[in-house]
Formats: sequence, C-alpha cells, structure tokens
Amino acid sequence: MMQAVGHNHAARLARAQDQLGQADLNGLLIGPSADLLYLAGYDAPLLERLTALILRRDGDPVLLVPELEEPRAAASPAGGLLHLAVWPDGGDPFEFVRGLLPSGGRLGVSERMWALHLLGLQSALAGAKFVLATPVLSALRVRKDPGEIELLARAAQAADDAFGLIAGEGLTGRRENEVSRRLFQLLLDQGCDSAAFAIVGSGPNGASPHHEASARIISTGDVAVVLDFGGRVGGYCSDVTRTVSVGEAPAEVREVHAIVREAQEAAFRAVRPGVPAQEVDRTARRVIERAGYADRFTHRTGHGIGLDEHEDPYIVEGNDDPLEPGMCFSIEPGIYLPGRFGVRIEDIVAVTEDGARRLNHATRELVIVG
Ligand code: ZN
Ligand code: ZN
Repeated sequence: MMQAVGHNHAARLARAQDQLGQADLNGLLIGPSADLLYLAGYDAPLLERLTALILRRDGDPVLLVPELEEPRAAASPAGGLLHLAVWPDGGDPFEFVRGLLPSGGRLGVSERMWALHLLGLQSALAGAKFVLATPVLSALRVRKDPGEIELLARAAQAADDAFGLIAGEGLTGRRENEVSRRLFQLLLDQGCDSAAFAIVGSGPNGASPHHEASARIISTGDVAVVLDFGGRVGGYCSDVTRTVSVGEAPAEVREVHAIVREAQEAAFRAVRPGVPAQEVDRTARRVIERAGYADRFTHRTGHGIGLDEHEDPYIVEGNDDPLEPGMCFSIEPGIYLPGRFGVRIEDIVAVTEDGARRLNHATRELVIVG
C-alpha cells in the first residue's frame, strides 16, 4: 500500500495523547492496523513479532519495532516523527513495554491487535486493565479532513471508471471469477494502488449480498448481476455497487431496481449534519417497506469508510450518533430474492456543512450490458 502523503501525523498523535486524560487511560498500545497508519503514517506488516505504537500521558510517543523491521519503519513518516525503540530478535518486547507504561490503571489497545500480542502485554502489565482504544481512535478518524476526502474521491473515481469499462466489455459468456479478476486489473489501471475486493453475483448468486465470485458462467437472461468492488488510493478505500442486466431486463427486475434506486436516493437526501445515523437507515428502509420488500432488505444501509473498508459511522438502527461534516460512509440498500436475483446500489458519500456530497458518479440507471 502506498503511504498517504501530506497528512499531519504529528497533530494526530498530539490529539490522541490529549484524549488520554479524558478517556481515563494511562496509555494507548496500537498494533499494525489502520489506526497505526492514521496516527503515524506507518503501514506495518502483521507479524508474530510485536510492533506497537505506545502513547503515554507524559513523555513522547514511542514506536516499538522488531529489529528486522527497523528499515521499513524508519523509511515511513513515523521514522521522522517518532522515537523508534528497536528490540533485537530473540529479545522480549513485552519486557520493554513494561518499562514504559504503569502496571495499573487503564490501558487502551487497538481493536485489531492479535491475541498473541494482547496476551503478552496483559501478562507483562498484570496490574493494568486493558480496554478497547476504539472510542478514542474512532473519534479522531471518523471525520475526514479535506485531504482524506480527496483520496476517497480519487479511489471512488477509479472504481467508477472501472465500472464503465467492465460494462462496456460486456459479461455474456464470462465466468464470475474471471470478471472479478478483471475488475482487480481495471481498478489498478484506473489509478488504485491496490485492488481490495470484487464481488460478482450473477442471477441467483446476486441474492447473497456477500457472494464469493464463482466459476458460474454469466449468460443472457442473467437479468441482474451485482458488481461490488473497490480499491485503495493512498490507503483510502473505495466501495461501489452497481447492478446490471445482461440483455433486456424483465419488468420485475426493472421495478426492483427502481425501488432500490429510490431508497438510495431518499437516504442520500436525508444526510445532513445533526441527523442521527439511524435516520438514514430508516429512510432507505421505509421506501423498501412501502414497496412490500421489507423482509428482503437483509442488512444495514451502510458503513463508514476510510483507511478501513468498514469503520464508524455505521448507518444502522440503534446508532443515534448525529452525523457531522467530514463523515464518509456508504449508502447501499438492496433487495434480495433467494434463488432468483438481487439488486444493490452503493455510493460513498461525504457529509458536508449542509447536506452530503456523492463521491461516486457512475450512473445509477439500470445498465443493459452485452
Ligand atoms: Zn460494497
Ligand atoms: Zn459497502
């Protein structure tokens, strides 16, 4: 993954440190993850050898790295910003952490730290209570700055362009998994640093929202094919879904597509600062319920997106957190008819001061492909 440039990691680290007192934390332990990339600009590999960013109430932050990874860490933005503490191969990294943090009070750990590492830290700092650092980190990451939104928009544009190209190529006679591989290539060709995923669900396979692309051959008469894919630019993800028809779509497919499109549009129009996240979900759901498909919309309406494909804010019943400018998330209602077909339409949107901006611009009409 390419390192995002131009982010102010020093300010992010300072903000995280500032939060410690308020969150009643003595420190934060951040393993290789989007959290580490966000705070320090280091895209660390996930290894059995411990890498951890250590933030304390007092004292400068420290990046603990295995000796073998030192060159990589030093070459990242973190290398110019942080004290690198290097632990030798065969040494005990947990012993080192014990010297930096109090063995008491509360310590926040990143959500995606391996159990191997967390258990080692817990036994080295046996008097401390370990809690998730998520509230602190999510509060920092959930509102994107203009530079981050620009990267999300570039990732979205690459995905939109890839959609236009795959639709132009046509799908008849191709296997789902070949189309999926082709989408990976098109995402790279259109400017992504890496391709992340490409769901291709043709005919009845489209009725399973997270269908794995299979060897099924797409043919005329697969009147709804769900394409859901994305890649990364500067670490930031795209995630777009369009449903196309191979050959003329029958009335029922056109009707279901129109309902999903209306639900997507209504949800988009509901987005503005101060609106609870769940209200966007309810808005999409109301359209689908009115049309008689309430029980066929089987997932939440959306998820936040940034350095992680799925992150806060979740657009789901029960999340009454108010939307704020800079929040970025998907709006992706769907209708799934088991054994027959599915339709989903997904765009990424950014909350603005007075509404929302779509980052995806691929047509939301039902596209007929060859
Ligand atoms: Zn998606
Ligand atoms: Zn999504």
